[in-house]
Amino acid sequence: MQRALNFNAGPAALPVSVLQEAEKNWLNYHNSGMAVMELSHRSKDYEAIHQKAQDLLRNILSIPNNYEILFLQGGASLQFSMVPMNLLTEGKIGNYVLTGVWSEKALQEAEKIGSTYIAATSKVQKYRSIPNEISISKDAAYLHITSNNTIYGTQWNQFPSNEFIPLIADMSSDILSKPLDIENFDLIYAGAQKNLGPSGVTVVIINKKLLSNSIDRLPTMLNYNTYAKHNSLYNTPPTLAIYLLKLVLEWVEQEGGLKVIEKRNEEKAKILYDCIDESEGFYIGHAEKESRSKMNVTFNLNHDDISLKFLQQAKEAGFIGLNGHRSVGGCRASIYNAIPVDQVCQLAEFMKAFKNKN
Ligand SMILES: *Cc1c(COP(=O)(O)O)cnc(C)c1O
Repeated sequence: MQRALNFNAGPAALPVSVLQEAEKNWLNYHNSGMAVMELSHRSKDYEAIHQKAQDLLRNILSIPNNYEILFLQGGASLQFSMVPMNLLTEGKIGNYVLTGVWSEKALQEAEKIGSTYIAATSKVQKYRSIPNEISISKDAAYLHITSNNTIYGTQWNQFPSNEFIPLIADMSSDILSKPLDIENFDLIYAGAQKNLGPSGVTVVIINKKLLSNSIDRLPTMLNYNTYAKHNSLYNTPPTLAIYLLKLVLEWVEQEGGLKVIEKRNEEKAKILYDCIDESEGFYIGHAEKESRSKMNVTFNLNHDDISLKFLQQAKEAGFIGLNGHRSVGGCRASIYNAIPVDQVCQLAEFMKAFKNKN
């Protein structure tokens, strides 16, 4: 079977070996006579999967013991609400850096819960860059950022410090793409369907000191304490998604860990950005150079008709998912961890050939 040239933004491509391992165990997990999704979430077999996924994540990201790893549902989008519900207490102000569509959505949800403040925004520059200056309000509950802007194709290189107020990051589209200093953050969340596995599970990494503030009148399922107290087994977790997360984490380890993954991601991004920069204005990158994302490469062609032709011919040549997000248009190649260098080279070759013919 020929693997698709899948540049989708999410759900996105998974490593072939992960899918093969899942297939091998599909009908009969560890000789149980059952599939993973048929196991009780209270069984030893499932508990081992659950524990292993947490242990691997803790190892790979060097997550200290004063942080809990939680598995939730509802996607990153539910975290837009859960963060303020749990942490934006009376008299405090939720600070947000706006760097694109997802951070705007996070802010909108927080506005429904309490007071908010825009600590920085690059909206007037059409979100081409990450703001370098941030002003924090008084009585700040936290500062919220989006580490990688999946739609506009920008990414933070250097994070604000969490010395004075808790730092919260939506890392849905770049978690596990490079090593990370967890202690610089107080809460990290990520929907799995970009770099971690399939959709259906959301990972939350939270400093235990934030759990003590959590509010008792919250609905049980919207309270981080519920997940922390019950090891994310208060109710039925998304068992199949967590199993696949475990396989992806094993794959990251086998590949050599985050330093190796980071180097490969840098190499892949360079291939495409070089192709854009050497095209003499035929391809125009959306993001400013110093804010460019290594996960989502966004670009336009020099006029709309040729953009449509490019997307059409790319589709005919087997490239999938190159349309920009419906809210911004243009083109976008998402090159998460599971995308092999070879596929990125094929895309760059296609882009060069298209340019020469047009
Ligand atoms: C994809 C994405 C989301 C939305 O995730 P859902 O799991 O669909 O809710 C939020 N934030 C970022 C940065 C994303 O890339």
